[in-house]
Amino acid sequence: MPAIFQQRCLFAAILAGALLLCDVSVAATRSRDSSEQAGSPVTVVIDPGHGGHDRGGIPGQRVAEKEMTLDVARRLKTLLVRSGYRVVMTRDSDVFVPLASRVAIANSYPNAIFVCIHFNSAKRMGADGIETYFYNRDSLPLASAIHYFVAGGAPTSNRGVRRRGYYVLRKTKVPAVLVECGFLTNPTEAAYAQTASYRQKLAEEIAAGVEKRSAVATRPDTTRVATSENIPLQPYIDQTRVAKASRHRSKRFHRKSARKKKSSKPASSEASAASSKQEG
Ligand SMILES: [Zn+2]
Repeated sequence: MPAIFQQRCLFAAILAGALLLCDVSVAATRSRDSSEQAGSPVTVVIDPGHGGHDRGGIPGQRVAEKEMTLDVARRLKTLLVRSGYRVVMTRDSDVFVPLASRVAIANSYPNAIFVCIHFNSAKRMGADGIETYFYNRDSLPLASAIHYFVAGGAPTSNRGVRRRGYYVLRKTKVPAVLVECGFLTNPTEAAYAQTASYRQKLAEEIAAGVEKRSAVATRPDTTRVATSENIPLQPYIDQTRVAKASRHRSKRFHRKSARKKKSSKPASSEASAASSKQEG
């Protein structure tokens, strides 16, 4: 082989190698960008509510909450893994996992965010809408982002972001949010929840919230109008003071109110009753 040809071959090989390296590093950067565009942390601990003997919801409820939460969680996992996130599930089958174990899983990843997926329930069939809970203040941006997308994308009412001391939110040391993806006791919302396309849509909106969490404004007094880089920090209803009281009196209160004035209960007490059951 002539020397000049050998040199050209060598040069071509070096060039090809350089291009390959360049490609690899661009791909790596892209993957990092998509997963870390919001900055670290990048481990998402997904917590599908209930499971095993804990069906979720209220007694006599037709649609099992535990099945809906697991399905949305699995879809969310697929989406987040595709975007480059590390995902950990607190359960990935129909098993009962105690709340303390769910918290322990979340806390074992110091750079994680924790997303609990639930569906709501109420004795009044008309109760509907999306609500998102947080407890620690540093979880509010994540709650705002997830709520902004889920409530914005769902064909139902916006029940707002709520601060409340649920065990899984109080005990986690990482940003933690619990999203109630609609009422399974509402015939319209239950019908939606039972379609795969709607559960996929819910997962997509939650994933959007996770990915855009760093785009949430840091101050509540900034504009409420979203731009591509700026999601408004959501105002929230503080339910931290009523949580314990309503938990203690909810059974008595609702037994009494069921006898007397079933239809005139305020919406918030329905959510409280349903939510306190989820905790128990
Ligand atoms: Zn639940």
